Amino acid sequence: MKVITDERCAEYRQPSHPERPERILSTIQLLKRQTELPITWASPGAASEAVLVRAHSAEHLGRLDEPHDFDGDTPFFPRIANYARASVGAALTALQAARSGESVFSLMRPPGHHATRNRAMGFCYLSNIAIAVLEALATGTQRVAVFDFDVHHGNGTEAILLNQPGALFFSIHQFPCYPGTGGRNVGKNCFNYPVPPATPRGEYRHILTSALEQMLSFKPDLLAVSAGFDCYARDPLAQETLEQEDFYWLGQSLRAAGIPLFSLLEGGYSNDLPELIFAYLKGVEGK
Ligand SMILES: [Zn+2]
Repeated sequence: MKVITDERCAEYRQPSHPERPERILSTIQLLKRQTELPITWASPGAASEAVLVRAHSAEHLGRLDEPHDFDGDTPFFPRIANYARASVGAALTALQAARSGESVFSLMRPPGHHATRNRAMGFCYLSNIAIAVLEALATGTQRVAVFDFDVHHGNGTEAILLNQPGALFFSIHQFPCYPGTGGRNVGKNCFNYPVPPATPRGEYRHILTSALEQMLSFKPDLLAVSAGFDCYARDPLAQETLEQEDFYWLGQSLRAAGIPLFSLLEGGYSNDLPELIFAYLKGVEGK
């Protein structure tokens, strides 16, 4: 398992904000301490302007340098544009690793799936996964599917990939919940699976299975996973019910598809996040 990270992504913080540096630092600690899963560590590559502007407007990229908060959840931080670019760079490195047949996970912040073409929101500044998908499509992959199991709807990914030839988007999320979108399918290629709050685990897994089956029926050449661990039963930001073993099962189920796969960390705010990520990685690796 290759894990792409850079401890510098822990350099910014807002006191009491749930998207905090410890999410990454404590996961690195657990992954370094464990002995079950051999891990190769890698650093994020670069993300060029040309790659970013496929997904974002020039105005948005400029706005990231202006020292004003984006919304109540999404503060401005000095150098946030650089941190966001490093997270994109990790997504691009993950894409390359998946194409070389490696198992790979990007363990970075900020997350990306709420950022739209023109707007930072929901703790997200740049759309890491949409940028990687557009890069894959621009460099020879025919059909790329995003599987977004974060408990929140991936509105930014959806907005950027909407009706994009070769791209497919599948999001399984609590509804109603932030950001309020994702109640139905949109366009030709965006499929949403809204799940009521407090849906029992077995039912939640059944819905995840349906989404996965529908995604595979399109025969994608590459899977890009927005891995959010806030559908966990004890996550403070949502009301769903999954347990640690369900993330192992998710990893295994994605691996079983037999398609090159890369995963990027999105949400997940409980103190158990390191264990949840570790369970998922073991599933993806088939351990
Ligand atoms: Zn989330």
